[in-house]
Amino acid sequence: MTRQIRVGGVLVGGGAPVSIQSMLNTRTTDVEGSLRQLRALAAAGCQIARLAVPDMDAAKGFAELCTVSPLPLVADIHFDYRLALAAAEGGAAKIRINPGNIGSPERVREVADACRERRIPIRIGVNGGSLDKRLLEKYGHPTAEALVESAFSHLELLEACGFYDTCVSMKSSSVPTMMAAYRLFSERSDYPLHLGVTETGTEYMGTVKSAMGIGGLLCLGIGDTIRVSLTADPVREVYAAKAILKAAGLRRDGVNIIACPTCGRTRIDLIGLASRVEDALKDCKKPITVAVMGCVVNGPGEAREADVGVAGGEDCGMLFVKGQIVKKLPYDELLPALLEYVDRL
Ligand code: SF4
Repeated sequence: MTRQIRVGGVLVGGGAPVSIQSMLNTRTTDVEGSLRQLRALAAAGCQIARLAVPDMDAAKGFAELCTVSPLPLVADIHFDYRLALAAAEGGAAKIRINPGNIGSPERVREVADACRERRIPIRIGVNGGSLDKRLLEKYGHPTAEALVESAFSHLELLEACGFYDTCVSMKSSSVPTMMAAYRLFSERSDYPLHLGVTETGTEYMGTVKSAMGIGGLLCLGIGDTIRVSLTADPVREVYAAKAILKAAGLRRDGVNIIACPTCGRTRIDLIGLASRVEDALKDCKKPITVAVMGCVVNGPGEAREADVGVAGGEDCGMLFVKGQIVKKLPYDELLPALLEYVDRL
């Protein structure tokens, strides 16, 4: 089991439930806009939010946001240790910084001390796209071994300051590379792991890559907190992360929708119905299974485990509960009837 850190009120590692993170695409200086996005992320189920803090103005905005944010905030900092100190002072719940990139050991110590005093953990975020030259020369390209070696070299700098309240990410845009890196690291260390595939692309391919990389590792028991990166609204990242956790069997809250792929027996617009059901229930927290099946021949039987479901007929459909048909309805009434039943569960 990994060690445990605390990010605001969220426990990460040490057997705590795997948490969901996202990153805002607003500037911290736009306090109103950032707060709007934070609220939307929180409503979608995000538990930890990260913001870029590229300069002192951003650090001021970050501090202001810390006082009003509904979520614990992580300051994302590159190179400048003074920004890390300002973020720590401003109320950061975590700081993402790579100690090897901030200069002298004294600066690393200052950051480590500031974080320790306030019990702020640090995330070391190794990224295949920004590995240091020495490792690139040694390994030729950003291999899994290179990512792991980089993570350990940053960790050693914090450990030299007596700082162990750290979590680690080793992201790559290559799913096999990031998976190999996390597996290798977890064999050698018990620091908690923040999982992510980076630069995944737009929503469809990004979700596929993240489901493979993050989901694959979670199924192996590796990973303590996750961030799905998508070139899309950050709220979509949270929905994708929730789906990955559900598919990995790590979340029971929220509706599990099963739907058939349709075939020549389907006589209703099942694809449209399934996406309307998914949309209508995306914020429902009940730990239930809802089936949307194309026909009564196989539908109720195949979805026997569902709490409630619909199966299509000839321009109509059946509402079924635990595999038993309870009502025959015209197509247009299927969705309202299903939602009404879910409401009563
Ligand atoms: Fe075809 Fe019916 Fe199976 Fe859907 S449930 S794939 S319609 S046989």
